[in-house]
Amino acid sequence: MVRKVSILGATGSIGQNTIDLIARAPDSYDVVALTGASNIAQLAKDAIALRADVAVTAHDHLLDELRAALAGSDVQAAAGTAAVTEAASRPADWTMSAIVGAAGLAPGIAALEQGGTLALANKESLVCAGQLVLETARQNNSRILPVDSEHSAIFQALIGEEMSAVERIIITASGGAFRDWPIEDLAHATLDQASSHPNWAMGQRITVDSASMFNKAMEIIETHEFFDVTPDQIEVLVHPQSMIHALVGFNDGALMAHVGPPDMRHAIGFALHHPQRQPLPVERLDLAAIGQFEFRAPDARRWPALRLARETMQYGGMMGAVFNAAKESALDGFIAGQIGFTQMADVVEDTLSHMNDAGGPVHAAMTLDNVLQVDHLARKAAQAVIRKRAG
Ligand code: NAD
Ligand code: MG
Repeated sequence: MVRKVSILGATGSIGQNTIDLIARAPDSYDVVALTGASNIAQLAKDAIALRADVAVTAHDHLLDELRAALAGSDVQAAAGTAAVTEAASRPADWTMSAIVGAAGLAPGIAALEQGGTLALANKESLVCAGQLVLETARQNNSRILPVDSEHSAIFQALIGEEMSAVERIIITASGGAFRDWPIEDLAHATLDQASSHPNWAMGQRITVDSASMFNKAMEIIETHEFFDVTPDQIEVLVHPQSMIHALVGFNDGALMAHVGPPDMRHAIGFALHHPQRQPLPVERLDLAAIGQFEFRAPDARRWPALRLARETMQYGGMMGAVFNAAKESALDGFIAGQIGFTQMADVVEDTLSHMNDAGGPVHAAMTLDNVLQVDHLARKAAQAVIRKRAG
């Protein structure tokens, strides 16, 4: 059976890994939409090779460049954020949500509204608007399959199990670039140093978020939203090798672990072929050669982001959208050289308390418009904090 598929964020790390899998079996897929942002050459090349119906750049001003790159092919060109969401709403059996940041929320919702399966790499949508995303899936009989490696692992460990028997969920963290640095040195960590991950090849933003543990912080909230477990059932375990991706602990004391090489094509391929398992081009682990697995408790002083995620869940309402927006703004500030590495957590902490004290908007009903409004207000608040700290 040929399936209609779309890839949102096709030019990124997850998008390219998805294309790698799809391109291995071109006769099985009919590609509807590919979306990207500034990498027009890659977007056009893939859209032509996969014979997509439409290629969309999120940037209006790049429409002519995209048109030129697609000249002579049958692929339509479109540009702008509304066009990304329109492309996501075109009927597809399976959509990969792999835009980075809150920008992935509206297109993901549009994909859920047209039905089909949403393979969700964009964890920000669950952090910002978990209830809304899950409710949209329910109302439209669409399905969400997690693509974050930890969440795919949890999902797989839960197959055939009752949620009532789950005691705890343990998500592992590599510890990122600075896991072995003296804590005093973190304040002077540079963007270059934060942008290299010990195990995974990923986009720059999530790589820096791994060094600060903001990625794991987001994943705690993602776990809480997606699997409907309480915050105190979720544990983080530092596992420098990134081979055990998550463990589920049951009421009889058993732990079901998911073990595999650090290669996102596993989680992507699992979501692509679900409910079947199909052969995937990932390395087979030689456990005897690996010899041992290492674990450490996460250090709260080194990684304040973990505490901030728990405070966010305690605040409730739309504070998840505040957390994400503040985190994105702080990351922008660090990338732009306005603030230091450890100040990212300070910015998020100050923005959370400011927005919580302001009340009002964060406790309104969780609609897409309200989430986007809170996102906007939180970015403004975070930028004010950054200016104060930078100046
Ligand atoms: P990336 O930076 O490599 O790619 C991001 C994609 O989003 C690109 O296609 C880019 O063109 C597009 N994009 C960026 N800004 C946009 C905007 N404003 N509007 C529309 N499109 C925009 O990122 P990535 O590492 O592939 O991560 C994508 C998502 O998957 C993120 O939510 C990330 O947290 C999640 N994720 C990634 C990995 C990984 O291994 N890379 C693992 C787990 C989860
Ligand atoms: Mg992950």
